[in-house]
Amino acid sequence: MTTNKILKTLEELSESIGVSGFETPPRKLILKEIKNLVDKVWVDPLGNLLAVREGDAKHPRILLDAHVDEIGFIITHVDKRGFLRIAPLGGWDPRTLPGQRVIIQPHAVKEKYPSPVFGVITAMPPHLTSAEQRKKVIPIEELLVDIGVTSRDEAEEMGVVMGVPLTVWQSFKRLTDDTLTGKAFDDRVGCTILIEVLRRLEEAKNRVATVVFNFAMAEEVGARGARTGAFTLEPDVALALECTTAADIPGVPEYKSPTRLGEGPAITLADRSMIAHPDVVSALKRVGEKGKIRHQIKKPIITGGTDAGQIHMTRGGVPSGVVSVPSRNIHSAVSVIRLSDMVAAVDLVYGFVQTWKE
Ligand SMILES: [Zn+2]
Repeated sequence: MTTNKILKTLEELSESIGVSGFETPPRKLILKEIKNLVDKVWVDPLGNLLAVREGDAKHPRILLDAHVDEIGFIITHVDKRGFLRIAPLGGWDPRTLPGQRVIIQPHAVKEKYPSPVFGVITAMPPHLTSAEQRKKVIPIEELLVDIGVTSRDEAEEMGVVMGVPLTVWQSFKRLTDDTLTGKAFDDRVGCTILIEVLRRLEEAKNRVATVVFNFAMAEEVGARGARTGAFTLEPDVALALECTTAADIPGVPEYKSPTRLGEGPAITLADRSMIAHPDVVSALKRVGEKGKIRHQIKKPIITGGTDAGQIHMTRGGVPSGVVSVPSRNIHSAVSVIRLSDMVAAVDLVYGFVQTWKE
């Protein structure tokens, strides 16, 4: 049953569009799921969805954070023939973009355009390119988006103007019972895990600690919402829930893949934004070992960062850690993850909430 709820929530969140700074649609879905599970919930001035579930005031206040935004683009120019130029919001691999379908969201800028608009990132036909050109990666500023119109006016009538956000469109699919693929798993996977942790706290009538939540905006452009959200929520300890890099595929030596699919959620030791607090790391490992919850340690490759990078430097400092679900193809159009890794992440985080007393 738990897995059915996780799947349904993840599918809905994955297919919803919420590029950094324009997170309203997925935020509304999350609000709908959590409003009856928390004592207080509100949207802060930047667009974070913050929530408090009261517990025993003698216990530390635990922050659970996952970011709502996904990587995408913003329209920088619409030319006379109605072709769009775009700039990235977040870190795309430009090699993965030509030939992709995109979904454009005029509604994020002007409410009078409720329908999304679809488009295609143009790929020059191989018949017309030289062997040399085909080896070259096209920079994002040189890509064109074709929305099927013939003029700038026609694009404008659909609400497609400078400043409108868009992202690559892919539907959610189950590859096997346990293997899932879809867009925006980074970090709707984290959001889904937090919703499931809340459901479980409610089912168990668990009020051990006060748990505060930040469904954060704008992580992909520098963990901006995590910083302000943590300041408001004043936690004593924090966990960021993430989707992280797995490169456990043929041709990549084992030592180069930070995590592996199917081996449980990954506990971070260090990345570019933070050295995880050793007490938080040991507490997570203890929960995993005692509860026989499958988990792995992410190889401390000092690249990438998470919301915890900002959270741990808030106010007087917050001991923080990161738990993440391994994902292949991260920061491309579609990711590949394992449902069992998500379920184990819920177990691990729930166990942490129950036992953290430092
Ligand atoms: Zn992320």
